[in-house]
Amino acid sequence: MERKSIALVAHDSMKRELAEWVDWNWEKLVKHHLICTGTTGKMVEKTISAHHNVETDKADITLLKSGPLGGDQQLGAKISEGDIDILIFFWDPMTAQPHDVDVKALMRLASVYNIPMAINRSTADFIISSQLFEEEYTRTIRDYTDYIERPLYK
Ligand code: PGA
Repeated sequence: MERKSIALVAHDSMKRELAEWVDWNWEKLVKHHLICTGTTGKMVEKTISAHHNVETDKADITLLKSGPLGGDQQLGAKISEGDIDILIFFWDPMTAQPHDVDVKALMRLASVYNIPMAINRSTADFIISSQLFEEEYTRTIRDYTDYIERPLYK
């Protein structure tokens, strides 16, 4: 089994749904390192500790800042550094978010680095039930050399 770093984020109106999803999948999730935006992370901790015997086997959960206070950007930075393997983001398509640009930036970086990204529950179900969720997987990342070495002056 390959231990992965899994980012979990939910907008406020989706937090209950993510809590349900975590509750349903906690046994699979606790085998991995979970990295969450602040408020989502507290909820994830609470949900997992309801099942998990924290004394014998502590779940590995990292809490970043709350999303609107920089948490999404922290996650984006981690993706660019190769520290995130999967992004599960229960986003709300019906509510304007104060940190909309940060959310877009996070999704963009997940695409740039070819991270599996679920932005709704059914995709999250497909990802967590994939064989690759437990197995070693090497993402292909587009070769950005031409971009990095582009001529700047004529
Ligand atoms: P939160 O942030 O987990 O701190 O609520 C989520 C988000 O990015 O909206």
